[in-house]
Amino acid sequence: MAPATDVFGRALRNLRISVTDRCNLRCAYCMPEEEYVWLPRDEILNFEELSRLTDVFMELGVDKVRLTGGEPLLRRDVTRLIRLLAAKPALRDLAITTNGVLLAEQAPALKEAGLHRVTVSLDTLRPDRFLALTRRNSHAQVLEGIAAVARAGFTGTKIDTVVMRGVNDDELVDLVEFGRRAPAEVRFIEYMDVGGATRWSMEQVVGRQEILAHLAERYGAIEPLTETSTAPADRYRLPDGTVFGIIASTTAPFCADCDRSRLTADGLWYLCLYAQQGTDLRGPLRRGASTEELKALILPMWQSRRDRGAEDRLARRGQEPLISIGQLRQDPHLEMHTRGG
Ligand code: SAM
Repeated sequence: MAPATDVFGRALRNLRISVTDRCNLRCAYCMPEEEYVWLPRDEILNFEELSRLTDVFMELGVDKVRLTGGEPLLRRDVTRLIRLLAAKPALRDLAITTNGVLLAEQAPALKEAGLHRVTVSLDTLRPDRFLALTRRNSHAQVLEGIAAVARAGFTGTKIDTVVMRGVNDDELVDLVEFGRRAPAEVRFIEYMDVGGATRWSMEQVVGRQEILAHLAERYGAIEPLTETSTAPADRYRLPDGTVFGIIASTTAPFCADCDRSRLTADGLWYLCLYAQQGTDLRGPLRRGASTEELKALILPMWQSRRDRGAEDRLARRGQEPLISIGQLRQDPHLEMHTRGG
């Protein structure tokens, strides 16, 4: 079946499921505050409910699912959810985005449960910087986690690095070299002023051109790869064949191709990372809505989707943070760690 498309012809393909809003790190660009308002436990969807909603989305075109959070490996027994999802033959891609802290112990079980691919977030190779950035002393565990991914038999692994001026922008070459050895494809992400990034400033953003210029100084000519996929990263090849990516989500957003939507752990569905309103799917689901009824709720929302949140942000940037701390405390769904990065 052809996937549902929105007003701009963007397909409903890619569902990011935040399986928990809890996290075991406190990254300065995502969760910089001391106190957070957590989602009530009884509102968190169970695995059968998540699997059921995934089926509904798949009937409308979704064939890629990414588990995220919060930290998805904190969700108890997440491999059982992976098993349920991996059993769906029409699901072409089932991936997870993790900070890697719990990966060393869980990688073999994730593989065995049928997970296809792993993306690990890693912003620095220096333990002291990791501690300053995340306020947790778990750097060694993350490195062990990355090593465990290849050992467990995963391929297509990615490492996502948020580049911040004065924080880790002197580690680009080191991270490319680390990725080559892992092996994993490193993707440099521009620092975004999403909900939760209450300390964001444009001065800290290191844009794509600057990243490329920095790497070209060390490696020589960098070749852009031409691709047709809707993946957010622009990919490049170094003279030695190493491929890396840049997600220029702040200076050159990929809204035109965005096929992503997001489901929070308590069943709110968001059409855009920057959207202020989501659609409650938990209520209808728990009241016993049929698959057709759920599809009838989701389809018109997607068909009338006009969101181009990152582009709107680019046009209006520089005035105030996207969402104030006060608003975030009133509605934790506006947080990046709740709706899933
Ligand atoms: N805990 C998991 C992890 O760390 O990968 C999954 C959730 S985390 C919110 C997902 C991704 O969002 C991470 O790669 C993180 O670096 C990214 N992220 C969070 N805040 C960001 C920001 N302000 N700008 C760019 N990327 C951000």
